[in-house]
Amino acid sequence: MIKPLVAGNWKMHGNTETASHLAAQLVAQWSDRPVAERSVEMVLFPPSVHLSLVKGAVAGSGIAVGAQNLSQHGSGAYTGEISGDMLVDQGCDYVLVGHSERRDLFGESSATVAEKFKAAQSSGLIPILCVGETLRQRQQEQTVAVVTAQIKAVIDCVGLHNVCRAVVAYEPVWAIGTGETASPEQAQQVHRAIRNQLGEVGLSTRLLYGGSVKASNAAELFGQPDINGGLVGGASLEAIEFFNIVKRAE
Ligand code: PEP
Repeated sequence: MIKPLVAGNWKMHGNTETASHLAAQLVAQWSDRPVAERSVEMVLFPPSVHLSLVKGAVAGSGIAVGAQNLSQHGSGAYTGEISGDMLVDQGCDYVLVGHSERRDLFGESSATVAEKFKAAQSSGLIPILCVGETLRQRQQEQTVAVVTAQIKAVIDCVGLHNVCRAVVAYEPVWAIGTGETASPEQAQQVHRAIRNQLGEVGLSTRLLYGGSVKASNAAELFGQPDINGGLVGGASLEAIEFFNIVKRAE
């Protein structure tokens, strides 16, 4: 049995006040049961400048914290970048790698994504590798080819075993922040293709779905056999809505 994971990507939103308020609200909701009895794991991805603040706010609650990005380099003259070791030092357990906004808006190639994935694991972080097709690629029936190629680029760099130790998030680009969601069947079909690609080694790898997940559609998505939770953007900024999504994964 794979323990589901629900991740909240806060993107570039908020300030110190809203970040601490949101974290405190989630802790209050989440603290009704001992950590060991929970059947879902929750992880928050605030902006980097709020990482230590949020880490402090969730201390002792069992809620994990992760970063939205990292440098592929270990240290050095890379102005503006943040290394994996620095994120660990701030209390991060996870890091997003290859989010479609990083690929599209910041020109991250699959080779760079693979380097970042490697750097994350070298620092002891758990990467959540994001993959997904554009609307055009779906219309041209290239979905599985695109997604498996994105994953293969990372397998070629770090090996299958290391990819299977991480988390993979299938996020159709056309569903991110648009209010459109893949149907549970569409999502399951891609998740099954990913599971097949990972083979035996990946039988217990967590595969998340992301793309306009809400409390109203989460149960059906998370109920699919190869979907082990979700990566949530917009809806993770509302404590009650996000908490209700987390509960749908139980
Ligand atoms: C995301 O940012 O990864 C995401 C899935 O966003 P949203 O839930 O807003 O579509």
